[in-house]
Amino acid sequence: MNLPILIRICAVHKAYSTGAGAFMALRGVNLEVATGEFLAIMGPSGSGKSSLLHLMGGLDRPTSGSVEVAGQALQTLNETGLALYRRAQVGFVFQFFNLIANLNVRDNIELPALLNGARPAEAGRRSARLLDRLGIAAQAAKLPAQLSGGQRQRVAIARALVNQPSLLLADEPTGNLDSAAGNEVLRLFQELHAQGQTIILVTHDPAAAAYAGRVIFLRDGLICGDESGLARAEIAMRLSELAQPA
Ligand code: ADP
Ligand code: MG
Repeated sequence: MNLPILIRICAVHKAYSTGAGAFMALRGVNLEVATGEFLAIMGPSGSGKSSLLHLMGGLDRPTSGSVEVAGQALQTLNETGLALYRRAQVGFVFQFFNLIANLNVRDNIELPALLNGARPAEAGRRSARLLDRLGIAAQAAKLPAQLSGGQRQRVAIARALVNQPSLLLADEPTGNLDSAAGNEVLRLFQELHAQGQTIILVTHDPAAAAYAGRVIFLRDGLICGDESGLARAEIAMRLSELAQPA
């Protein structure tokens, strides 16, 4: 099965300026992701995982190289264009949920839809469907502080999906959850993937990465492995090899 390429990353470098000069966090990354793939990005802390995810999501720009998503070269977009791209095409899920504390669950989910131009009735229909689908309908009127970690992450996932993004990007989404709640989130990702959602998951947990069909390994800003169908134990072994000095 050859699905069309959704993401095409070519020769991407990312430098950050630090007190000690420029630090090169990504050093020539090439990557293609097909529509509908569930891809995990792994690597030691500081290897560039979040940097790469942020570039795909249009949260940041590469120092050089190109990132193309759904045929659109992100470097050609100005700041407004990039904001529109994020809103319409990308759903983000973060480790610490990033919900708006003084909005209830339903309003948190509907906000990106309203910002993207949906009418209130349409935003309401979408949130109702997602509340149901993610098993959080009983929490609709609650504030984030009244929810468990697992419930908060479900709300964040519903919010990420409300504009039917081409791309769901998750940065350590289970990093702040106990293992039961983390597994629920991962099973949910698996379900979404089965329904055709493209998902990119940054994680340092081999058990989480094993849910994805394909794993890329980053080390010092370079991809040093790209494997499909690895089991948890094999992923753990690769990861421990990466932690050894080169
Ligand atoms: P990971 O997610 O794999 O832990 P990151 O992509 O967050 O790695 O960071 C890669 C490297 O770039 C790290 O050494 C980190 O300290 C550095 N870095 C990340 N963001 C910044 C920034 N805004 N300014 C300076 N250095 C940064
Ligand atoms: Mg990170």
